[in-house]
Amino acid sequence: MPFGRGFFLALAKSPYLNNHVTKWSFVRRATKKFMPGEAPEDAIDACAQLARSGRGTIFTKLGEAITNRDEATAVRDHYLWMFDQIKARNLPGHVSVKPTQLGLDIDEQLCAQYTLQLADKAKGSGSFLWIDMEDSAYVDRTLALYKKVKSVNPDAGLAMQAYLFRTPKDIADLMSVKPVIRLVKGAYAEPPHIAYPRKADTDRAYYDIANTMLMAAKDGNCLPIFGTHDVALVGRIIARAKELNVAPGKYEIHMLYGIKDAEQQRLRNDGQVVKTLISYGAAWFKWYMRRLAERPANVGFVLRSMIG
Ligand SMILES: Cc1cc2nc3c(=O)[nH]c(=O)nc-3n(C[C@H](O)[C@H](O)[C@H](O)COP(=O)(O)OP(=O)(O)OC[C@H]3O[C@@H](n4cnc5c(N)ncnc54)[C@H](O)[C@@H]3O)c2cc1C
Repeated sequence: MPFGRGFFLALAKSPYLNNHVTKWSFVRRATKKFMPGEAPEDAIDACAQLARSGRGTIFTKLGEAITNRDEATAVRDHYLWMFDQIKARNLPGHVSVKPTQLGLDIDEQLCAQYTLQLADKAKGSGSFLWIDMEDSAYVDRTLALYKKVKSVNPDAGLAMQAYLFRTPKDIADLMSVKPVIRLVKGAYAEPPHIAYPRKADTDRAYYDIANTMLMAAKDGNCLPIFGTHDVALVGRIIARAKELNVAPGKYEIHMLYGIKDAEQQRLRNDGQVVKTLISYGAAWFKWYMRRLAERPANVGFVLRSMIG
């Protein structure tokens, strides 16, 4: 298939497209489906609206793999400001960061220092800090970072990817810190010797890991968060949680802004704890390519916004 997952994930790596496509107004219009706007205030307004229908929000500023310390400091300062907004406006909002946004590629210690500061600020703001999982080159360092944060601050969660063969063992190793884990399928192009190339295998792995996490939740050793729009899979997970007597709240369901919105609300109305991750910021090209890769039919939005 010419416009399959691999095609968009390859485009995501192009510096040329990154610099140019973000200036094309019809693509900017198409991104509206997945983000309320580039400004943090747009995300804050969307959060307030979601809160009225009982959903929480996770804020994430787009941008990854920054190249100097000043950029990492600016990202840290931005999120400190965001936590102030969450507290001042009493928003049900969390923040999710990418370690490479906080300088993981430049200086691991600096990245740890900034992440710890943000976790501290999250706690003081009645909020919560999430750490995203990026491509497989970062997994070891991200796990080490999470353990460091968790050792001083329990209010921190980590994304883990079901498509990686290593994830069941990584999760077993994390259980000693009573982790908060957002289980996702995985959004990057990974080689077949480290990740399932077939979606059906990833889906199976997701359910098996979800089951392990729910059993740990039953004993109070894990707070599982299911970050997926796979409604059938979510249904099976909810059924399993019921069998195990793990109530909503002892696990949560998180989805992305603009995807399966009616399902998000239905799950909320059914008594599930649902949070919506809202992305904002100008550096949306790589992130947007990953959304197209997840569902190539989304190219239709780009084409329609080109026409008008
Ligand atoms: C809250 C949250 C946080 C995430 N954090 C990370 C992270 O830290 N690291 C990481 O690698 N990945 C992350 N992801 C992305 C994740 O890895 C998947 O790439 C993404 O969620 C698509 O897979 P899926 O679970 O929705 O299942 P799929 O089986 O891919 O999709 C299920 C159904 O959802 C719909 N759907 C899925 N994606 C889209 C889309 N883009 N547009 C429209 N419909 C769609 C389709 O109808 C599809 O049939 C996150 C996802 C969520 C929801």
